[in-house]
Amino acid sequence: PAAGPLLSVRKLRVRFGGITALDDVSFDVARGQIAGLIGPNGAGKTTLFNCLSRLYAYEQGAITFDGQPLEKLPRHRMAALGMGRTFQNLALFASMSVLDNIKVGQHARTRKGFLAHALRLPGVAAEEEACSQRAAELVRFLGLEQVARKPVADLPFGTRKRVELGRALASAPTLLLLDEPAAGLNHEEVGALGDLIRAIRDQFQLTVLLVEHHMGLVMSVSDHVVALNFGRRIAEGTPAEVQRDPEVIQAYLGAE
Ligand code: ATP
Repeated sequence: PAAGPLLSVRKLRVRFGGITALDDVSFDVARGQIAGLIGPNGAGKTTLFNCLSRLYAYEQGAITFDGQPLEKLPRHRMAALGMGRTFQNLALFASMSVLDNIKVGQHARTRKGFLAHALRLPGVAAEEEACSQRAAELVRFLGLEQVARKPVADLPFGTRKRVELGRALASAPTLLLLDEPAAGLNHEEVGALGDLIRAIRDQFQLTVLLVEHHMGLVMSVSDHVVALNFGRRIAEGTPAEVQRDPEVIQAYLGAE
């Protein structure tokens, strides 16, 4: 891997008509770090995530992922190149089992793998066996053994969010983007999620960028926090530094 930060965002600007959703935003995410991205509603967090996963184009600025300019990387290869993400509106197949959803996530890693699986090409059996083993390991890691063969639609929301994490992890990302993982979870589940995010980073040695409204979670789990407001970066630093930053306090009080 290249030296330097895993992710580097420089002077990013995105406009929707008259609205500037991101204005001159710069920050780095170091390898192995858990980074939190916070900001009141409309601050630009989702827009930034969508730029990172190449759903939106940006009119100005640059993003570098693992030493490579993002705009040079083919969009359909982002998972294969090591960028995994979860979605707020979970990207799961509701009628399929937990295990099968995680297997689908693995095949996102290679287009060839996905096609071979879909077309049942020769050699698929051995590959399939290895996939099943890896999926079973993820299921164990996430504590989903009891529900592994159940359709996702039959599971409580908190459990479905765990499956969504499994789906994103299945493609073996180096950078995991988590889009509001705590949204809709109860107090107990949020506590467990914090432990899980740290365990994921340690076990899979990956880097995490987390968009989250739940301040308790962001501040307890992050090594580094970036705060946005009205599309601008207003603060950056350790959780303690960002929490006591006057502009951050003002942004949240003003948003009430
Ligand atoms: P939330 O916490 O509510 O999800 P956010 O920080 O994710 O907010 P964004 O969704 O990125 O904020 O929105 C940033 C700004 O850009 C807002 O003013 C929003 O209305 C605007 N915006 C976002 N997406 C679009 C779009 N597709 N078309 C027009 N405006 C948009």
